[in-house]
Amino acid sequence: MSDCIFCKILEGTIPAEKAYEDDLVLAFHDINPQAPFHVLIIPKKHIESVGTLTPEDDGALCRMFEVAGKLARELGIDRDGYRVVSNVGVFGQQSVPHLHLHLIGGRQMKWPPG
Ligand code: AMP
Repeated sequence: MSDCIFCKILEGTIPAEKAYEDDLVLAFHDINPQAPFHVLIIPKKHIESVGTLTPEDDGALCRMFEVAGKLARELGIDRDGYRVVSNVGVFGQQSVPHLHLHLIGGRQMKWPPG
């Protein structure tokens, strides 16, 4: 059995507050939100990060971004704007090695990120 925390959420052995689910992706609220709205969007297939995507993952990746936009509209953060990011590896501060988009909104973001 996988010890990936996001695979466990997909299996239902770890609870999560789901925001969206279909055949390719799952979205759920981050347990440690960094803004008033902070949702994670993951592929159902275990992919480690942006760095290990292959052409076979095109469908899931496209769906992840579509769901980010759809959820942003539903959450009402599309008008003011929001951020969609994916951290990769140590310097990127990726803490869960299962590809995910962070959809973060509801406050003014800063650039450059810390
Ligand atoms: P990253 O550091 O970019 O890999 O993002 C991982 C994110 O997963 C962090 O923002 C965590 O707060 C979040 N996270 C970790 N465990 C859980 C969980 N069980 N449910 C929801 N979010 C989680």
